[in-house]
Amino acid sequence: MPDLKEQLKSKKFMFKHKYGQNFLTDANLLKSIVNDANISEKDNVLEIGAGAGTLTRYILERTKNKVVAVEIDKTLQPILEENLKNSSVQLEFCDFLKIKPEQIKKWFNGKKFKVVANLPYYISTPILFYLIDNQLPVESITVMLQLELAQRLSAKPGTKDYGALTVLLSMISNVSLTRKVSKKLFFPEPKVDSAVVNINFNYNKFDVDFKLISKFIKNCFMMRRKTLINNIMNSYNITREEIKNIFNMLNINENARAENLTDVQFVELFNNLENILLVLKE
Ligand code: SAH
Repeated sequence: MPDLKEQLKSKKFMFKHKYGQNFLTDANLLKSIVNDANISEKDNVLEIGAGAGTLTRYILERTKNKVVAVEIDKTLQPILEENLKNSSVQLEFCDFLKIKPEQIKKWFNGKKFKVVANLPYYISTPILFYLIDNQLPVESITVMLQLELAQRLSAKPGTKDYGALTVLLSMISNVSLTRKVSKKLFFPEPKVDSAVVNINFNYNKFDVDFKLISKFIKNCFMMRRKTLINNIMNSYNITREEIKNIFNMLNINENARAENLTDVQFVELFNNLENILLVLKE
């Protein structure tokens, strides 16, 4: 592979800040990310944000199965084609968030796949929500994120980092921060450090309709400073008294905020609100 900086220059490539383009070139780091993703020969892999294909190349070294790499920036096409020539990768040039989930399933013939990405920072959270809300057959997600977001994903209840994404992920997966990465290893260098997070799915922890509970939990965290009761009243047609009764029954403090509840408590609360009041259909 040619020297990346030279290649980008010779192709007159202009970095687009709005797409969160911070590329990786360090071979050891790229190998480590693919190791953290636990990719073996038979795995299908989806890469989001292929960039110049540096990470894609290491993914392709590890699996003989299908690799699909999505990239929004068409001006990277000649660079990607040069760097990944003679490989079996399927390149797709589009906005990942605009792809229909059915389309992604088709790429992999309905089979399971692993996600690996050095995610564009400006849309890391929406991409993670997209992957979990659409219940695609994703085995694991191994992604580079801003350190702060990485820490939020594995935060404990009662801390300021604990949010809707933390609760939802803890319901369906095991999250681990596998390595911290200095901003110096990116080109161009971003303002903050990053970390690699590995999310391993285990879909059977609770028997609930995931789409509905996901909406419910997002509503519970809508206004972080408000109490949980106020957030629920804001989103659903239910009185304070009705919620208080359920809180008492479940031993949840009336002044609790969303960040104080564990995933088990959210599921209990959801099941009770759903069964008794049928308010969660919207
Ligand atoms: N994987 C490469 C590039 C990471 S930078 C590497 O590690 O070096 C993030 C990449 O995501 C950029 O190439 C950017 O153009 C792309 N990107 C940004 N928004 C996107 C979107 N909505 N859909 C697909 N790709 C996107």
